[in-house]
Amino acid sequence: MNIAIVGAGIAGLGAAIALRRAGHYVEIYEKSQFKNEIGAAILITPNGHRILRRWGFNFDKARPVDFKQFRYVNASTLEIAKYESFEGVEERFGERMASYHRVDLHSGLREIATGEREGWTAPAKIHLGCEVVGVDSEKGVIELKGGEKISRDLVVIADGCHTAFIPQVAQEDIPVQMIGKSVYRMLAPFAKLREHSDASKLWDDEKPGFVTFFRNDLMIVTYPCRGEELLNVAIFHNTRLEERQKVDWNSSAELSKVLEVLEGCSELVKHIPQTTDVIKVYTVTQRPPALTIHRGKIICIGDSVHHMLPTHAQGGCSALEDAAALEVLLSLHPDSPKPFTHTASNLEKRLKLYQHLRLPRSAPTQILSSLSPQLTMAGLAKKTAELRKFYAGDLPPWPMGTGSWTEPLREFFYSYDVFAEAEDVLKAWDEETGWCEGMEGVAGEGIAGKNRWFGDVGRWAVEDLRDGNGVDREVAR
Ligand SMILES: Cc1cc2nc3c(=O)[nH]c(=O)nc-3n(C[C@H](O)[C@H](O)[C@H](O)COP(=O)(O)OP(=O)(O)OC[C@H]3O[C@@H](n4cnc5c(N)ncnc54)[C@H](O)[C@@H]3O)c2cc1C
Repeated sequence: MNIAIVGAGIAGLGAAIALRRAGHYVEIYEKSQFKNEIGAAILITPNGHRILRRWGFNFDKARPVDFKQFRYVNASTLEIAKYESFEGVEERFGERMASYHRVDLHSGLREIATGEREGWTAPAKIHLGCEVVGVDSEKGVIELKGGEKISRDLVVIADGCHTAFIPQVAQEDIPVQMIGKSVYRMLAPFAKLREHSDASKLWDDEKPGFVTFFRNDLMIVTYPCRGEELLNVAIFHNTRLEERQKVDWNSSAELSKVLEVLEGCSELVKHIPQTTDVIKVYTVTQRPPALTIHRGKIICIGDSVHHMLPTHAQGGCSALEDAAALEVLLSLHPDSPKPFTHTASNLEKRLKLYQHLRLPRSAPTQILSSLSPQLTMAGLAKKTAELRKFYAGDLPPWPMGTGSWTEPLREFFYSYDVFAEAEDVLKAWDEETGWCEGMEGVAGEGIAGKNRWFGDVGRWAVEDLRDGNGVDREVAR
């Protein structure tokens, strides 16, 4: 197939790699010029690393930092209130848990998407400065700003959390919601950080990982990236009036405002924002799950579908999972459990299968990520019911999300192998009837094993909504 991808973030670049591997030709339309500063770090957990490794990601070049611990530290006294070890995570899940400078992760993905690779189709073309302003789902046509129309066999929407297209695909408006928190973000050079005499208390004699400072309703998440040269810092604070509209990543913030928020914190904590000239602010948003993510020749992936809070470091990992699922389900290769033959009707069936594979995984990930004692625990019990609309398997014990890095949550998130799940589903799937033998889960019955990650989500959701018994949009927010 000839495929257009809208957006060159983690999801769009991941999809380009995956679809080239599956045997298709790909072009990406990206509205920016990639000149925007996207400096900040990102943690990729083992479920994401499994995918990067299979794609041949150049880890040496990207200089990830492997995480070995999490510390929860009193921002005023620097006392350690909680310690969680990540030793053994790599052994348990067979993959690393490591952070990247976003630019390094992005560059690594871009290199694979646009590089020559033996056995893959031609390198993906990225068209920069091309904003997509309209899509026709039935015809597979995208319209660029300026009026040009481009027709393709498949359009992958990967335009991020402020997507213009999910309402058209899902046939309902699902606006982003603010949770009352904003973030000052910065990258502090370790060399300057260490000029403070207390820095050694926290960063000497300890393996890399999180140091999360807390004070009243302030939460400051820090972790190293880029070979431990930089400390990624995110200061979650109550949104100030002037920050309410700052929902993108590039609004600058003044040091004086940051220091106001840090009032009462230790001198070391106040020293952190003074080590850098670049401080940005943005307001945290999330969105409840979309119930329909494909229509005609369009499939939506990444944050356009599952925009979530950053509490469990799963947004980018889920985007990689989406892309990897497309690779398996649309593979033309003879060694696939069921090689795809391109006809309009076959494509429609495969995209429906994709939705049934991905929503039971991505929607619970989104809902679990909306629970965190530091950010929001609103609607805790009702959220279990919400989860059951999508997912029939065992859940981590309550209170869910109280520790983003606890063992039950690690099992839930990191053990997922999207390649294995997608291949199992494909094997069980009858292309004619659309039925998956042995995979038919019933929401709410607590099915364990493989089929917990699969379900007739579209049908449940739509029928429940019709009965007036469906997903509670207020709760999901
Ligand atoms: C503070 C914070 C911390 C996070 N930490 C983690 C973490 O540790 N681990 C993790 O896995 N995830 C994390 N995430 C989530 C992760 O960053 C996102 O889930 C991920 O970047 C989403 O990728 P995406 O490609 O779907 O969207 P985006 O990265 O938003 O990319 C969308 C792209 O589409 C382009 N675009 C938009 N509209 C158009 C259009 N109309 N036409 C053409 N192009 C368009 C944009 O310019 C952009 O390049 C975090 C998020 C935040 C906010």
